[in-house]
Amino acid sequence: MNNFDKALLPVQKKILKGNIELINVTKRFDSTVAVKNLSLLIPASSYCCLLGPSGCGKTTTLRMIAGHEKPDLGQILISNCEVTDELPSERGTAMMFQDYALFPHLTCQNNVEFSLRMAGVNKGVRAKKAKELLSLVDMDEYAERMPSQLSGGQQQRVALARALITKPDVLLLDEPLSALDPFLRTSMRGELRQLQKELGITFVHVTHSQEEALALADLIILMKDGKIEQADGPYNVFNSPANSFVAKFIGGHNILYATVKKKQGEKTYFEGPDSYYFKVYDPNFQSGQRVLYTIRDDAVKLTPVNHPNSESEPHVKATIKQIEFGGSELRMTLNTSDGQELISVCRDSDFNQRNWKVGDELSASWDQKNIHLID
Ligand code: ATP
Repeated sequence: MNNFDKALLPVQKKILKGNIELINVTKRFDSTVAVKNLSLLIPASSYCCLLGPSGCGKTTTLRMIAGHEKPDLGQILISNCEVTDELPSERGTAMMFQDYALFPHLTCQNNVEFSLRMAGVNKGVRAKKAKELLSLVDMDEYAERMPSQLSGGQQQRVALARALITKPDVLLLDEPLSALDPFLRTSMRGELRQLQKELGITFVHVTHSQEEALALADLIILMKDGKIEQADGPYNVFNSPANSFVAKFIGGHNILYATVKKKQGEKTYFEGPDSYYFKVYDPNFQSGQRVLYTIRDDAVKLTPVNHPNSESEPHVKATIKQIEFGGSELRMTLNTSDGQELISVCRDSDFNQRNWKVGDELSASWDQKNIHLID
């Protein structure tokens, strides 16, 4: 974990409540293996996002932590105690569902009080507690409204208050922002993060959205086909993707191939795309071997062909195939002469000075220190 990721991690409390450990967990549904021999460690008081494409096993993993699904194999520990066979109510966890699952016939206040009522807590105590929680999520003014009289964002706040009333060590959130419009999603995202910091409890949040995970998480667990592809802080997941799947899923990267051209002592020299060359201080490659590497889209510099600054550096000639306007940025897709696709993202002000158009040939280059070998 690098310094940027460490800085995001909350200060660990002495009482290590809310840490989660999955040890060799497997879950099958008939012939589908939803989660395959998965082991992971989520530190106490962290914000963890389970990220990945549809069907990769995120929700099943979350539901096993909650106790709503039982693993076929393996163990689950919460706050250092094994809970694999415990009931959901005995795990110190609370779950917020994707559709919020508020009781339509109960007011906000009664929805929030519900679990305390089931636990036999007296009316005065539970009413006071529910008011405190509604106030925490800024919904105290709406206590007597029915869920149908609330917006999506307001329903979500009530669902949060309802989940938090049992004072869980771990809050489990299944796609909590997916029902909101993009504007509200961004603002609720900030509020969730703030709430997690204030409460200091562990949040485990399932999402499809890499942008959401990068913005929220201390720890991203990126999954594919029931297995973990990378578990790391957001900075490392973005800048040092473990493989081409992670690089593609997280986005913002070119995935290029190069061939070993020469080996000299500790150094290996590569070429690709086309005439772009670079070296790495690692002798463990074979002559002619093909490797994949990533370069961030915003690290690809474009200059006119034969520009004196570009010709002295490693570079490759590429032709503009597509230009997309994205507000403050422009995204250009180019083809290199050896048939690789290159994306370059630049500020619109830089682009406007150049007057480039589809079909123009340019010189593309990137700093060798930004090259990240994968696979
Ligand atoms: P999504 O993002 O679409 O919700 P996910 O990553 O959360 O997907 P899961 O819901 O965990 O994925 O499903 C993982 C696999 O297990 C999928 O192939 C799914 O069809 C299967 N699966 C999940 N629940 C069940 C079930 N109750 N019965 C049968 N198969 C199931």
